[in-house]
Amino acid sequence: MNPLDTILKPKSIAVVGASRCEGSIGREILHQLIEFNFHGKLFPVNPKSDFIHSIKAFPTVSSIPDPVDVAIVVVPREEVLGVVDDCGKKGVKGLVVITAGYSETGEEGKRYEAELGERVRQYGMRMIGPNCMGVINTDPAVRMDATFAPTLPLTGRIAFMSQSGALGVAILNIARQLDIGFSHFVSLGNKANVSGNDLLQYWEDDPQTDLILMYLESFGNAKRFMQICRRISKRKPLLVVKSGRTEAGARAATSHTGVLSARQGLDVATDALLEQCGVVRVNTVEELFDLALAFSKNPLPRGNRLAILTNAGGPAIMATDTAIAHGLTMADFSSLTCHELRRLLPPEASVQNPVDMTPQSDRSKYEACARILLEDEGIDMLLVVFVPPMLINAMEIILALEQLRHKYFKPVVGVIMATEEFFVELNRDHPNHMALYIFPESAVGSLAALDRYRLWREKPVGEVKRFAVRKGAAEELIQEVRQQGRTQLTLEESLRLMEYYGIPVASSITVANRSELERVAKELRYPVVLKAIVPELVHKIDVGGVLVDLRGPEELLAAAQKIAESVTKHRPDISACELGFLVQEYVRGGREVIVGMTRDAKYGPLVMFGLGGIYVETVKDVVFRLPPLTDLEAREMIRQIRGFSLLRGIRGEAPVQMEALAEILQRFSQLAEDMPDIAEIEINPLLVFSQAADFRAVDARVLLSGERGDGA
Ligand code: ADP
Ligand code: MG
Repeated sequence: MNPLDTILKPKSIAVVGASRCEGSIGREILHQLIEFNFHGKLFPVNPKSDFIHSIKAFPTVSSIPDPVDVAIVVVPREEVLGVVDDCGKKGVKGLVVITAGYSETGEEGKRYEAELGERVRQYGMRMIGPNCMGVINTDPAVRMDATFAPTLPLTGRIAFMSQSGALGVAILNIARQLDIGFSHFVSLGNKANVSGNDLLQYWEDDPQTDLILMYLESFGNAKRFMQICRRISKRKPLLVVKSGRTEAGARAATSHTGVLSARQGLDVATDALLEQCGVVRVNTVEELFDLALAFSKNPLPRGNRLAILTNAGGPAIMATDTAIAHGLTMADFSSLTCHELRRLLPPEASVQNPVDMTPQSDRSKYEACARILLEDEGIDMLLVVFVPPMLINAMEIILALEQLRHKYFKPVVGVIMATEEFFVELNRDHPNHMALYIFPESAVGSLAALDRYRLWREKPVGEVKRFAVRKGAAEELIQEVRQQGRTQLTLEESLRLMEYYGIPVASSITVANRSELERVAKELRYPVVLKAIVPELVHKIDVGGVLVDLRGPEELLAAAQKIAESVTKHRPDISACELGFLVQEYVRGGREVIVGMTRDAKYGPLVMFGLGGIYVETVKDVVFRLPPLTDLEAREMIRQIRGFSLLRGIRGEAPVQMEALAEILQRFSQLAEDMPDIAEIEINPLLVFSQAADFRAVDARVLLSGERGDGA
């Protein structure tokens, strides 16, 4: 038995703080429990009254003669610990603490919460909350609505967790209007004991739950969340509204990777996390419900080919545009389909996709055409648009479609531009009807989400490879830098670190100043590149610090002169004779990519890949992932950048060796995971070619965390 069963499937409930006072939370919760026909025993607890809501009340939990599974606690904060002790004495194993005034209110509240959490743990209880709005289980064998939301929930197969209590109430309201039913609803509150991850695991195997919805403001343990979701999402769809930004997104950053992740504004780390574990992210609660409708009422499509059936042109055109923008394919009809549609419809109707039946189409036309389309093997999903003309009964058409859609194993959704009264009547008389939307964009967006989720389900899991690398040498290098009191590796050290992890780098030597450069100039193999060593710069080239393709000692020394002049002009703090240089093998040709990493306190390392070079922050063509990267994810990152076609080669160019590039990303991911002391890394550019042997990183920056191990 799962410990959360005590809370979610109780046989007896004590409402501690139950009250006679109309409108008080203690009264409302008791009332909801009765109103929803709780299947077990109910015990109001209140030291000041003998009975509440016509039920005998008890002064304490421990004075209740029967066993108690869960206590719903609504007493003032100062009394909560006493209640916990009393429950402990009684052997109660589950708590739902509605009482607020904890970590959400500041330092004092945090202390109260820590104490509460500790006490609950000592008794071996599980607790939801504090500061939550309660829990619901619609299972006919339980029927528990221990919330103070005024709406009673509908029974369904969706489990919902909400981190916001207020939003939870609103959600229950809207869900009912939309004909969306729940298996469970849990308001998580401050998550002092039961976390979102605990609930996810509970719902993973819950036979009443097919679909999981989440409203989250934060991840307690992001890595764990990812592991759990990766597994569950292969069986049940997970939809999430995640608000709030991550630290990596908000923090001022010193590298391109940091700047790009911050500038992209939206929390790329969260997006990466959710995408990598198959969670469907939506931006608004409205969208969450749109998708919940489609997911809860339809099978997954077998492909992405959409057919649209309509009685008006406008909405069908909008739907078509949206479908294409979402990457759906407008289905090509078989000749049989076209032929049958033509026979059925008036000459002015269109038998191409979208099928415009013209305004006078009635129930029988809708039904016959929908049947023809659903029969067509080349159509994976159907959108029915219905703009009601005055005389034709919309309800009839929906019911006709209702019968049809259960015969074919394909998603069917409707757009019906009808009045509110219509939906009220429909939900009342025909619950569990097909997913209906008012606007074509929401309907198509939801179908597209179904299809994206299908792709996730079909996608192989991939493999995280571990490469043989020189981890020890890398650790030593970092330690040395630390011992010298630095937090930044030199260019030469940064490249060496990459080399330890098997990332190919251009061979380089460092010289301390011009006279040393003169001494070595004759022994070099030309052509070379000369770079000024200026530590705090994002781009050396901005101060004229890089000259390429130098063909001999003379050119090299002239270049050094030129660089020194330019650098000292930009940076008067640097003296020309103390300027150090890096001489590097000149790598001709190739395409420039960037590989980067920033570390977030919560999410850990975040790996970036994109088009590189000196215009990287202008082009901003980058994608992010959280390590460990699987081989598939590495390949996916490469394919996902907008400039992928440049890597694949245009106008007859040979394509870049993608497998070699994917391997570098995986090695880099391993490095990012192995070295928690590194705050940021950036290789820019890595020059990539059609032959793996030609790949070279020519510039790299590595920053260590400000304080050892603080991770940021
Ligand atoms: P920074 O980014 O600090 O300005 P880089 O070392 O990245 O300096 O050099 C800037 C540009 O010069 C690179 O984007 C690349 O186009 C070119 N470059 C640098 N090093 C080499 C090299 N070894 N071979 C060929 N081109 C190079
Ligand atoms: Mg660079």
